Amino acid sequence: MPKKHGPHRRASRNEPAPATKLRVSSAPDPHPPTSADWVGAAERIEQRQGPEIALPTIRAAAGIATVEPGRPFSLAAVDPDADGGLDKQEAKAMLAAERARIQDLQERLYAERRRSLLIVLQAIDTGGKDGTIRAVLEGVNPQGCAVASFKVPSAEELDHDFLWRYHARTPGRGMIGVFNRSHYEDVLVVRVKGLVPEPVWRMRYDLINDFERLLAASGTTILKFFLHISKDEQRERLEARIADPQKHWKFDPADLVERKSWDAYQSAFNDALNHCSTPHAPWHVVPANRKWFRNLVIARTVADTLEAMDPQFPAAPKGIADLKVPD
Ligand code: AMP
Ligand code: MG
Repeated sequence: MPKKHGPHRRASRNEPAPATKLRVSSAPDPHPPTSADWVGAAERIEQRQGPEIALPTIRAAAGIATVEPGRPFSLAAVDPDADGGLDKQEAKAMLAAERARIQDLQERLYAERRRSLLIVLQAIDTGGKDGTIRAVLEGVNPQGCAVASFKVPSAEELDHDFLWRYHARTPGRGMIGVFNRSHYEDVLVVRVKGLVPEPVWRMRYDLINDFERLLAASGTTILKFFLHISKDEQRERLEARIADPQKHWKFDPADLVERKSWDAYQSAFNDALNHCSTPHAPWHVVPANRKWFRNLVIARTVADTLEAMDPQFPAAPKGIADLKVPD
């Protein structure tokens, strides 16, 4: 990986890069850290053994297609109507059971306060990101959970590197973080609308992989869900937003313009899924025409992932059984 970023500046001197330190001197640093140092640091962390560094294998629930790193994938191969042969009422009852698992495991994750879970949701407009968050996280302690919704970047955000605003919202230890849209917008809408030149968005796939590797190596398990709906389903959802006064607030006329770029979005989605599905942060493609099926399989994957992380309550303080609360 570091090869892609050019030779390490210290490699020729045959000495390891020092850990990044706080510098107190005001004299100019003759060797300021470069991005290669950060990538090198992430790699060294990743190679360390230890429970907080071990990268869990992330398996999705049946019905979801996981993009295998290095194996060509196309959204066209996933049926957005798939429902696992379940019936809606049955699936709703099963969802309640998955939520209970998530709530219990989230309490442990929060109490343990050593690791975090980042859930990334991407989809075309009307794809169901908001509904998924409502359905899957209902009942979770709000203190242990933070949702970040990413809109058109502000002037301040645009003055920084493209990952700046996302990195600032990653979940801290003990937290479940949800990205409603994410750093992937910078290779999706940005590419489709030509907001930056092609060489700029092209290099972002590698930068995104490095960013996610840094998070994973720092104790964040990453679950990325792409909600896959059909073009017909989008039409129905847009029509419902126009027809139903209760849904007017959700209607954005810009979605009608974006719909004309449906094929360009599908190409951009396919490229992001192919370039950025890695062992530590694979993409999971969820059939999402049926909301109840989407909710169930995502909730189950979240619950299974938390269970695999196996968060533990911290050890009780010594001698707790003998302690008395004073009057
Ligand atoms: P919504 O999620 O429907 O409230 O809309 C948010 C809007 O912000 C969508 O139209 C996105 O395409 C847009 N958006 C999000 N991230 C970016 C980005 N990095 N650059 C440009 N537009 C973005
Ligand atoms: Mg919208």
